[in-house]
Amino acid sequence: MADAGVTLTAEADDHFHDECGVFGIFGRQDAAAIVTLGLHALQHRGQEAAGIVSFDGTQFHIERHVGLIGDTFTKQSVLDRLPGSRAIGHTRYATTGGAGLRNIQPFFAELSEGGFAVAHNGNLTNALTIQRALQTQGSIFSSTSDTETILHLVATSKERDLNSRFIDAVRQVEGAFSLVALSSKKMIGCRDPLGIRPLVLGDLDGAWILASETCALDIIGARFVRDIKPGEMVTITSKGLESIFPFEPVKPRFCIFEYVYFARPDSTIEGMNVYTARKRIGAELAIESPVEADIVVPVPDSGTPAAIGFSQEAGIPFELGIIRNHYVGRTFIQPGDSIRHMGVKLKHNANRRIIEGKRVVLVDDSIVRGTTSQKIVQMVRDAGAKEVHMRIASPPTRSSCFYGVDTPEKAKLLASRMSIEEMAEFIRVDSLGFLSLDGLYRAVGETGRDNEQPQFCDACFSTQYPTRLTDIEGADNVRTLSLLASNSQ
Ligand code: SF4
Repeated sequence: MADAGVTLTAEADDHFHDECGVFGIFGRQDAAAIVTLGLHALQHRGQEAAGIVSFDGTQFHIERHVGLIGDTFTKQSVLDRLPGSRAIGHTRYATTGGAGLRNIQPFFAELSEGGFAVAHNGNLTNALTIQRALQTQGSIFSSTSDTETILHLVATSKERDLNSRFIDAVRQVEGAFSLVALSSKKMIGCRDPLGIRPLVLGDLDGAWILASETCALDIIGARFVRDIKPGEMVTITSKGLESIFPFEPVKPRFCIFEYVYFARPDSTIEGMNVYTARKRIGAELAIESPVEADIVVPVPDSGTPAAIGFSQEAGIPFELGIIRNHYVGRTFIQPGDSIRHMGVKLKHNANRRIIEGKRVVLVDDSIVRGTTSQKIVQMVRDAGAKEVHMRIASPPTRSSCFYGVDTPEKAKLLASRMSIEEMAEFIRVDSLGFLSLDGLYRAVGETGRDNEQPQFCDACFSTQYPTRLTDIEGADNVRTLSLLASNSQ
């Protein structure tokens, strides 16, 4: 059709990004192939690199590659190099430690009792402090990843058996960690005491599975058994599964942003389906921030469930007024100069026939730097919208995340330096509304926020961090600050 509308550049992806997905299986002959499928389902949690470690009863096998799971791990030649009935894997979006082959997980080391591999979703907030102490005792680190710290703590522990050494290690680290580890005899899963990042337990015809999200169980037809609980450590051997709670009990603080954006909508976390949560978030937003309009349009794909909820609650028709091109690969995300200078816009296209002459409510999940919102609003205006009202399905993001999410430094967050009125002016909308923190809590739970003891981690909205930030709060930590508080690509 000649009516091409107006499009948006692909390189603008103004979101927080979850750092990692983990997956492990114990007791199935084609373990690496199963892990490959599981990691494929978790690809949204990290697209830059992936790794799998398998154990064949005699020795460990390791494959780590830059790129998507499908780029490498679906090749039979690669899977043939990963034999065995036990395997763990990891897909990553580089944050702490930056990108690079040496930082691809799972990490593996030969310890005194044999090989040991570990994959981590989250981020440790005292890793550099521990690392410095270990280095003064002679430890040599081969990566710049916080996860390697756990391996060193296990290796240097004075405890006797592997489980005790692992417990000794995880008791010393702070921050967010959902871990899957593999030795010659066992697979271990462990979630930090606050349970900041998700981890679930599944079963595939008697083989135990650990995965970041339930969507990774669905892809292989595995049965969801339960969430690994905050502060829980499970040890899986050929005799079965044992569970212990090696930490001081504390009130859980699961990352509320998983419901807003990170997790896949078809996953269920802590008993709540993510798609349902996002629709409820959209409905709360419509109640809190009503607007007279003709159509509700999501910023696809992440704004879609909230826009459906908004539309249903407000009684305003839902329309796909913006179409996303799903075939924008990484080569196009960083287009060459000659293409970029033509102003070629690749990722979104305004559906002019739907938008022209309408009062539009645009629904998106969040505003980070504001650059994408600004361009989308302009695109919708250029397509003939009479009014553009923006509604955001989360509170203003005012602070960086230190728990395994790639975020810009605080100064680059639009909400950290502008009022809502100033932001509305910056992105050039007729009105701008955010969901309140209380409204977000109501949408994903039963009550609003308990301000004395918040039920979730919401630090990027509230600026109240649920753990110590030892690497930042300690003295002489200029390097730490720059590593942790910035987009360390
Ligand atoms: S700071 Fe925000 S993104 Fe990070 S864990 Fe907490 S709620 Fe999630």
